[in-house]
Amino acid sequence: MALLLAALLGVLLPLPNWGRTAPVFTRLPEQTLILDPGHGGEDGGAVSVSGQPESGINLAIAKDADALLGFFGARVLLTRSEDVSIHDSGAGTLREKKVSDLHNRVSLINAAENATLLSIHQNASPDVRWHGAHVFYGDEVLSRPLAQTIQESIRDHLDPDNDREPQRAASSIYLMNHISCRAVLVECGFLSNPGEEKRLLDPVYQKKLAMILTAAYLTQGDTQEGESLI
Ligand SMILES: [Zn+2]
Repeated sequence: MALLLAALLGVLLPLPNWGRTAPVFTRLPEQTLILDPGHGGEDGGAVSVSGQPESGINLAIAKDADALLGFFGARVLLTRSEDVSIHDSGAGTLREKKVSDLHNRVSLINAAENATLLSIHQNASPDVRWHGAHVFYGDEVLSRPLAQTIQESIRDHLDPDNDREPQRAASSIYLMNHISCRAVLVECGFLSNPGEEKRLLDPVYQKKLAMILTAAYLTQGDTQEGESLI
């Protein structure tokens, strides 16, 4: 894990534009990673202190991770690749659109075989002092190890003072409680904290977060046998 992350940070970070390249080798050919950038379209999610919606940051990190995973030949699906909500055309009000969007995300995730979900979000709090990424997981046995790896990797490589522990996703989070696959939701930081907002809006910091998600998935990708792949 540490070796892979160091390679990603050292080799790929200076490249101005990764694009899609032919995989140098294939990782986890029988599995699918679903990258879920939270919100989108009219539903921007949390809003930063300078007025930036979390939806755009979520999408940027997901696209960075998708590009990286393409380099490794991993099979990836994105729930959205643009600033859109994926609601049905019949949805009228914003609430109807949000409900329909979540239902469609659940259907997409549950239709994939051997899937892992990484849902990407940004946090906000009325108390501007709150900061730090926090990782949540679905099923305890299946999902907690990946959540633990991501939380520890964020502490080791990005935020040494972050002593949060991964937590079971609350029952109020619809998406996380209506899917059956391994699932982790990453709240990457607090947009309500001015210092953290600045970092989360920085494309380099976004790439570092994407690298952590990529390395965690590649090193903990095999849910069938539980062996290290790197
Ligand atoms: Zn969110």
